[in-house]
Amino acid sequence: MTIFHTLYDELTGFLGIGPLLEMYKSGNYSALFTFNGILQAISPVIPLLLLIEITRAVIYKRFKIEDYKIPFLVYVLNRFISRFVSIAAVLFCIGILEKFAVFKTTFTWYWFIYGYVIWEFAHFVYHYLGHKVRLFWCLHSTHHAPTAMNLSVTYTHFFLEAPYADVIRTSICILAGVNPPLLFFIMFIDGTWGAFIHVGENIMKDGRMGFLGKIILTPSFHRVHHAKNPLYMDTNFCNLLNIWDKVFRTYQPEQKELQIEYGISREMNPGNIWDVYFGELYCLWKDMMAAPGILNKLLYIVMPPGWSHTGDHKTAKIVKQHYLSGKASA
Ligand SMILES: [Zn+2]
Ligand SMILES: [Zn+2]
Repeated sequence: MTIFHTLYDELTGFLGIGPLLEMYKSGNYSALFTFNGILQAISPVIPLLLLIEITRAVIYKRFKIEDYKIPFLVYVLNRFISRFVSIAAVLFCIGILEKFAVFKTTFTWYWFIYGYVIWEFAHFVYHYLGHKVRLFWCLHSTHHAPTAMNLSVTYTHFFLEAPYADVIRTSICILAGVNPPLLFFIMFIDGTWGAFIHVGENIMKDGRMGFLGKIILTPSFHRVHHAKNPLYMDTNFCNLLNIWDKVFRTYQPEQKELQIEYGISREMNPGNIWDVYFGELYCLWKDMMAAPGILNKLLYIVMPPGWSHTGDHKTAKIVKQHYLSGKASA
C-alpha cells in the first residue's frame, strides 16, 4: 500500500492541490481568505493547464510522446535534488546579505513595483549570463533542448540551475533593499507567469495576446526566446515585464513570416536525456581539451557559446550578423 501512498503524495504534490484537498476534507474554507490561502488556490493552475494541454493533444491526435518524455524525466530528477538546494540557497543569501542592503523597504504597493523592477533586472542578469557565459550555458541549455513548446518545458531544467539562478536573483534583490516577504511574493508571481509563458500552440495558437503584448512579456515573446532561428537567438531574456530587454536592446517580437524552430543550434539528440542533461558539458570539456595553453582552456569556460580559440567564432551575435547581412544583400 505504501507505493500507492507515495504515488498519491507525488501526484498531489505535482498538482499542488494538497492544501486544497485538506480544506475540502475539513470543510473549512476560511483559509481562502488569507494571503497564504490565495497562493495555495493559485498554485494548481499550471499543472492543471498542463494536463488540459496533454488531454487536448491526445483528443486531437497531436500528442507526441517525445514532446513530453524528456521534460518529464528531467522533472523527476529535479524534483528530488533541486528544490532543497534552492530553498537553502535563498535563505543563506538573505541571512548573509540583508545587513548590507542599501535601504529597507516594506510590503506596500509602491515597494512592490520597485521590487518587481529590481527582480526583473536580477532575472535578466542571471538569464543573460546563462546564454553568454559558456559554463552557465551548460546549466541553462537543458531548458532550451526541447524541440516543441508546451507547459512541460517549464519543468525542464538542469538540477543546478535553480540554485545558481536563485543565488544571483536573491542577492541582487536583497542588496537593493527588497524586503524578504515581498521577495517571496514576487517569486511566486514570477514562477507562475514564468510557467504560463511556456503554454503550447495546442492551447494558445497565437501567443501575442493582443494589447497585453504591448505592455508585458507574453508566450509569443518567450517562444521567440526558445527559437534557434538566427534572428531570434539570445533575445527576450525577461520574464513578465520586458523593460530590461528594451533597455539592453535584446527585445525581439515574433515575426509573422518567420516560423519558429525550437531547440538549440548544435547537433544533438533531443530524445536522449544524457545529451539533454550533459551534452553541453561534454562539448565544453572536448573544446577545452583540444585548446592549446591554459589561457585558451580557461577562456572556453567564460566566453560565449560558439567562441573558438582559432578565431572562427560561431557565437549567436556573429550568426545573427551573417543572417542580417545576407538578408540585406539579397
Ligand atoms: Zn534562456
Ligand atoms: Zn523558457
